Amino acid sequence: MMISIESAMAEIPLELSFDDVLLVPQFSEVIPSDTDTKSSLTDEIQLNIPIISAAMDTVTESDLAIALAREGGIGLVHRACSIEEQAAMVSKVKRSESAVIHDPLTVNVNHTVGQVKQIMEQQGFSGFPVLNELGFLLGMVTGRDVRYFRKNEAKVSEVMTPIERLITASADTTISDARRVLYENRIEKLPLVHKDGKLAGLITGADIEKRMLYTDSAKDLDGRLRCAAAVGVGDDYKERSSALIEAGADAISIDAATGHTRRVMDVLEYLKSETGHTVLAGNVVTEQGAKDLISAGANAIKVGVGPGSICTTRVIAGVGMPQLSAIQRVSSVCRESGVRVIADGGIRYSGDVVKALAAGADMVMLGSLLAGTKESPGQTVHQQGRRFKAYRGMGSLGAMTKGANDRYAQNSSGKMVAEGVEGRVPYKGPLSDVIYQLVGGLKSGMGYVGAHNLDELRERANFIRITPGGLRESHAHDIVITQEPTNYQQLS
Ligand code: 5GP
Repeated sequence: MMISIESAMAEIPLELSFDDVLLVPQFSEVIPSDTDTKSSLTDEIQLNIPIISAAMDTVTESDLAIALAREGGIGLVHRACSIEEQAAMVSKVKRSESAVIHDPLTVNVNHTVGQVKQIMEQQGFSGFPVLNELGFLLGMVTGRDVRYFRKNEAKVSEVMTPIERLITASADTTISDARRVLYENRIEKLPLVHKDGKLAGLITGADIEKRMLYTDSAKDLDGRLRCAAAVGVGDDYKERSSALIEAGADAISIDAATGHTRRVMDVLEYLKSETGHTVLAGNVVTEQGAKDLISAGANAIKVGVGPGSICTTRVIAGVGMPQLSAIQRVSSVCRESGVRVIADGGIRYSGDVVKALAAGADMVMLGSLLAGTKESPGQTVHQQGRRFKAYRGMGSLGAMTKGANDRYAQNSSGKMVAEGVEGRVPYKGPLSDVIYQLVGGLKSGMGYVGAHNLDELRERANFIRITPGGLRESHAHDIVITQEPTNYQQLS
């Protein structure tokens, strides 16, 4: 029997991406500045903006993770490095601020002044409680005590402020009481002490200042910034995940180009049963993929195969799904079971963030939009009067050589088949400026649709499909742009 081309084609579904659609404006009483952009990665991990950074070595290390959590989102620290290096990055984020530091770095009386200077330089902290072997507080040593002290071999006990002269407070001191004590005594650090004299924690003036400065920060119950970290599906995932959890990671993300595989499911089941920790899994683009990851215990699911700006998977492997449809398919399954959806890749403008969230995502994962910020890893380079930073796919030859090759199931022959490219993106200045524009665009979209919050955005979303003519009309046209606004660039 002959099947006509028309009927064969009719059986192939048409799937859409961000550029194929627009949201219809609706009657609205919502002013953008009144909208609420809160989201969550799980029931426990609440965020003030629906943004997570990509686990890429040109995007997320400690500096960017700290900056993003201060804005209310969460950073996902990449894994193209040793387990120790990645755990140290997570630890740096978690230690960057806290209400009370319950396990501050301490020194003992036998440390030398030279050793203390070295610890200060390595850790970036400027004061440590001094303890004896049993954990009793004997004094405090700070930068001021050692900076100009020449005798590096002298013992800490010679330069520290001893307990008799130290201002301390009881273990149950509140932050507002601590603030008063710090101010009244014009001191920077307040050790908290149990009744028996053992150290209970430390409150610092710098942390209190940050609490007042970054009011939207995403924090855990101890007031520490939120941070997630990636593991692969290669041999080291057990060791890596336990080091990351130990370092304080709030969530572990399984980093694989396709998450609908036996191997990802095995790693996910292991992580859930052995650690009970929050796990983000992916990437998938179908309902069945989502169902299988949910059955294996995923807390949140990453959606996207091939939409990323640096990805070539769709061209090299011929596989993928336009991102808007992928989000709709996966979220239709996840919403029933309360599992969160992370739209990973392909976001180029704030309007794409609005579309991704309206289509069902709880969060967007950003690579290229955050690469090129002041806080992203790498140096800024100058070229023809403009500033750039490097950005590369984790499936690019460079990144795979550095250790990300199991993401693309590469064999050990040493000859790799890349699924990503390496390049550069314009330097964008501080991350807070980029986030301001993205969230501003999101709030504007919510205003047009009449949504007070992200749940209402999803409920009220009314998508229409547009033609290439409609897309042309959507962009700036018939003008040579002389003054590019920071939130819009004509991309090729
Ligand atoms: P972007 O925000 O730049 O459009 O996309 C970032 C996302 O692309 C990442 O979160 C990750 O899921 C995906 N990705 C990163 N590197 C590669 C790569 O080399 N190849 C492919 N196929 N995807 C990548």
